[in-house]
Amino acid sequence: MSPALASLTAAPPSLAGATRAEIARALAEIGAPERELRMRAGQLWHWIYHRGAREFSAMRNIARPVLDALGERYTLARPEIVAEQVSADGTRKWLLRMASAYPGDRGAEIEAVYIPETARGTLCVSSQVGCTLNCTFCHTGTQAWARNLTAAEIVGQVLVARDRLGDFPGGTPPTDGLVPSGEGVRAVSNVVFMGMGEPLYNFGNVREAIAILTDGDGLSLSKRRVTVSTSGVAPELARLGAECGTMLAVSLHATNDALRNTLVPLNKKYPIKQLLQACRDYPGASNARRITFEYVMLKGVNDSPAEAKALVRLLAGLPAKINLIPFNPWPGSPYECSDWEAIERFSDIVFAAGYASPVRTPRGRDILAACGQLKSQTERLRARARLMLEENLAVGLD
Ligand code: SAH
Ligand code: SF4
Repeated sequence: MSPALASLTAAPPSLAGATRAEIARALAEIGAPERELRMRAGQLWHWIYHRGAREFSAMRNIARPVLDALGERYTLARPEIVAEQVSADGTRKWLLRMASAYPGDRGAEIEAVYIPETARGTLCVSSQVGCTLNCTFCHTGTQAWARNLTAAEIVGQVLVARDRLGDFPGGTPPTDGLVPSGEGVRAVSNVVFMGMGEPLYNFGNVREAIAILTDGDGLSLSKRRVTVSTSGVAPELARLGAECGTMLAVSLHATNDALRNTLVPLNKKYPIKQLLQACRDYPGASNARRITFEYVMLKGVNDSPAEAKALVRLLAGLPAKINLIPFNPWPGSPYECSDWEAIERFSDIVFAAGYASPVRTPRGRDILAACGQLKSQTERLRARARLMLEENLAVGLD
């Protein structure tokens, strides 16, 4: 960040979440010699992403004057954890406040959700503050649009999670809930872009964040363990495959355009045929690297046996997995979750056609952390009065 820009922000800028080039620029600004920039940037990168350094002074192999000069202009601050909730099933939800972008700005608030399993853990990150797309079954879609997250803010969600889960060398895992552990087990082993926002409407920043997450010297996650979920921005799929190479999940939810137009309004722009063609062309998709099709189960809306058969026909020839997601209701939501028998019937048809069709077990429902339930605190507070009356749900973060 240029000194002029830095002087406009409320707090010194953070290098946690920075790209190599940004770190090299910061080093140049403090007067590090040109010939050392690459090497020094590599060292800083290692401390930030491999070791989880939170203070420059921890970087023992870097000369003191360099660290002091960095410390005068920069920090290694992460997004702030405003609140944490731990579900009975171990799912953890954090309300995170981003650093303020200008003096007086309170900072955007977003949520990130951590879903532990015995030998792996998935972090669900947000890519935008709110979402512009208004899918009718999604809580996030009802929230006012605020802005895109920067690459650093996306990476920052992973750093915060790893800090909190004791997932950096020497870290201490929390004792209040499941955190996978064991030789070679990483608490955050997978990252999915399934939090707030449409990642392909923030492509540049998402790509930059993925580059840091999957760089062997960065956060070092395999590209197969990073999944980008899209509501169907068909023209961006080619770039996603070519430039990021991550796994792809597509939120399909309907088998005909009339219904999908109402559930996922973006379908009016990129209808099913165009979307599926982009999936067929997705670079790197193969039977070993299948595309996941997400299908939210809405009672009486898209859950009939005829629709299960139509889904199978639609995906014929595509290297696909089908992920049936029981609808997670939210206060005022216009849908209900399909009955269990309907989900089973649907799943059986899909399975008989040769698709693995795991039904996604809802996680963290008690803390409104399940898919589509993410919404920032400010919004929730406003909704709370109505919510208590209508739903009698306990969702407070306090
Ligand atoms: N915007 C992207 C990624 C975020 S949404 C997308 O739409 O794919 C992540 C997933 O949660 C999507 O499959 C979305 O359709 C699903 N989802 C949204 N609201 C939901 C709800 N109330 N219940 C179950 N799944 C929901
Ligand atoms: Fe946005 Fe995805 Fe929610 Fe649709 S489902 S409103 S694209 S976050």
